[in-house]
Amino acid sequence: MRIETSGLCHTDIHAAHGDWPAKPRLPLVPGHEGVGLVERVGEGVAAPRVGQRVAVPWLGWACGACEWCIDGWETLCPDQRNTGYGRDGTHAEFVVASARFVVAVPEGIDPLDAAPLTCAGVTTYKAVKIARVGPSDLVAVFGVGGLGHMAVQYACIAGATVIAIDVHDDKLDMARDLGATHTVNASMDDPDILLRELGGADAAIVTAVSPRAFEQAFAGMRRGGRMVLVGLPADNTFTLPIFQTVLNGITITGSIVGTRLDLAEVFELHSAGRTRIVRTTRCLEEINEAMKAVEAGDIDARVVFDLR
Ligand SMILES: [Zn+2]
Ligand SMILES: [Zn+2]
Repeated sequence: MRIETSGLCHTDIHAAHGDWPAKPRLPLVPGHEGVGLVERVGEGVAAPRVGQRVAVPWLGWACGACEWCIDGWETLCPDQRNTGYGRDGTHAEFVVASARFVVAVPEGIDPLDAAPLTCAGVTTYKAVKIARVGPSDLVAVFGVGGLGHMAVQYACIAGATVIAIDVHDDKLDMARDLGATHTVNASMDDPDILLRELGGADAAIVTAVSPRAFEQAFAGMRRGGRMVLVGLPADNTFTLPIFQTVLNGITITGSIVGTRLDLAEVFELHSAGRTRIVRTTRCLEEINEAMKAVEAGDIDARVVFDLR
């Protein structure tokens, strides 16, 4: 594939730093929000066809035969290969991808939008599905960056009332623009206090990369609430009070990216004009500066590299 656009995900930064317990393959080209045109196909490949625009997601390949794959949970395949982590990714002019695991980008979607939808979009779309968000729910979204700004929108599409929590006021303004009705700056106020005043969160989607945010989310849950862990802090643990989890019947679930079908649905929603991507464009040569800016919280939502 000839890459047109490639989004910068926080995972790329963790990969570059070797932050996580599972280390990336080295040397490595990171990037798993790649969008581009098929340049050549291998022998026997029926789809996609040469010239077609496709997206290359984190789930670069799964076996298709294990119990998770055949049950619709290819994202949990133990043999999966991850783009920009276990195999070379999309922050490059060209990438080799598995034909069965690229997803067609519908005509009319701007490639600059398609890139962030390929990880930030599908990951939060899946988290909102996993949280079984419904129209009368109060949904707390912790962290309003690349992922969180999409989580706010998918929760709104599901009909929920959304409260957004971040430590930057400009991100909270963005969350309001995107449909959040309440916001909390967690560097000044305790979000769990407001959440409890509102009756507690039926669902919380935690995309923040600080363990403290996970503890605050838990403290703000309504009885029977569903807390979905999405963010992956370098500091890997948070304290979970067992007593409150048991007595309040709280569900705690992890959610990692989404399937090819989830991504196709994400593209469908965007084609219908129901989501908006907040992004800023850079050329690939600026990747090191862009990573620093993301780490400093200086980027509203997503950096997308434009290679065209
Ligand atoms: Zn990602
Ligand atoms: Zn499998």
